[in-house]
Amino acid sequence: MKPKLELAGQRYGRLLVQKRSKIPQYWVCLCDCGKICDIKQANLRVGVTRSCGCLFKEVKAARPPRPWTAEEIERLKTLQVTPGVLALELNRTRANIEKKRRELGLLNDNRKRHSSRTDAKHTKM
Ligand SMILES: [Zn+2]
Repeated sequence: MKPKLELAGQRYGRLLVQKRSKIPQYWVCLCDCGKICDIKQANLRVGVTRSCGCLFKEVKAARPPRPWTAEEIERLKTLQVTPGVLALELNRTRANIEKKRRELGLLNDNRKRHSSRTDAKHTKM
């Protein structure tokens, strides 16, 4: 007979295993965010599940709004910053990155380039 797997006390990513769940093959886990959830044993063991779901949400929310364009990267190079470093510094949040783009004049440049067609709309005289 195979010995029963004991995962209580083990940590998988953000999950700290508490005890066996009432659901067979599941474990009650405490996530670092404070949530208690039932996680499938197999998923824990292979590392598929590493949080109650909060990690995925955070990763998703932290994605930059859109990839840097080649032109923007060129501009950043002249400023001795790489998009990766910059994005990390800015915590990769949409608001911060857009703000930085504005500071660096990247957004303005884009607008200028496309402005010929849209000028009429913007000039309210
Ligand atoms: Zn969580």
